[in-house]
Amino acid sequence: MTHRLLRVFLPALFVLTLLAQKNGVNLSWNKPIDPYRIAGNVYYVGTNFLASYLFVTPEGSILLNSDYEESVPLVRASVEKLGFRFRDIKYLLSSQAHNDHSAGNFLVKELTGARVLVMTGDDDIIANGGKGDFRFDGEYSWKPCKVDRILHDGDTVALGGTNLVAHHTPGHGHTKGCTTWTTVVQDGGKKLNVVIVGGTGINPGVKLLNNPRYGSIVEDYVRTWGILRSLPCDIFLGAHGNYFGMDDKLAHFKAGEKPNPFIDPQGYRDFIDSSEQAYLKQLSTEKHATH
Ligand SMILES: [Zn+2]
Repeated sequence: MTHRLLRVFLPALFVLTLLAQKNGVNLSWNKPIDPYRIAGNVYYVGTNFLASYLFVTPEGSILLNSDYEESVPLVRASVEKLGFRFRDIKYLLSSQAHNDHSAGNFLVKELTGARVLVMTGDDDIIANGGKGDFRFDGEYSWKPCKVDRILHDGDTVALGGTNLVAHHTPGHGHTKGCTTWTTVVQDGGKKLNVVIVGGTGINPGVKLLNNPRYGSIVEDYVRTWGILRSLPCDIFLGAHGNYFGMDDKLAHFKAGEKPNPFIDPQGYRDFIDSSEQAYLKQLSTEKHATH
């Protein structure tokens, strides 16, 4: 490349990079990994850091999390690599209405015609492409996606013998409609309870006390800890691989370890405990700061 071209190209690249960061897209979270079957009819079709799950039934599939718009071609390639058709996706669900889980919704809907089902509290954020989010409004946005059905705590999404239950687990630094999904799979002659945690971390800059954008955040958190503790869990999954130690478990899984390393009820309980500890620590820090 000539110096003249570099002079034009490098600043343009710099601006593009800034724009990408400004819009909250972290491309280091968007690297392809091989898809795999976790258990029963549940498959991992996400990226290295953004978890997407495919539930395959005789009547079509359900996709949980489209991830970034930039992730959709990777998710699609993963679905096809497993031997399934992307256009067979009938329902598109979300863990949280943040761009790293839901910005690709409009594109998945466009490519598959899937019905988009979203928990109350997140529905308007997805329908407005990020506008109205109590933490990230004005920092980044994405293409809006029509919401076909608003879900409420305990609602079931049923397709071809698979039932996915939506648990409203809001309050954490993620979103007001954050959703933990559960289902039961048959695997090796056993019934296993699957829990896919929506998220529990408190994003930087989120205040628990005197939060004018989210007055009920503490009550919501308390409710969320109760709901998470009430869910029976054999297979522990989440909206990001690091919630459930995916990289490590996957290495054991690929080595053929039995029982299935994704069966981890203790890991699930530990995750709730450590998440609640972090929440209590911040709450205490804020309380002391105001006195
Ligand atoms: Zn996320």
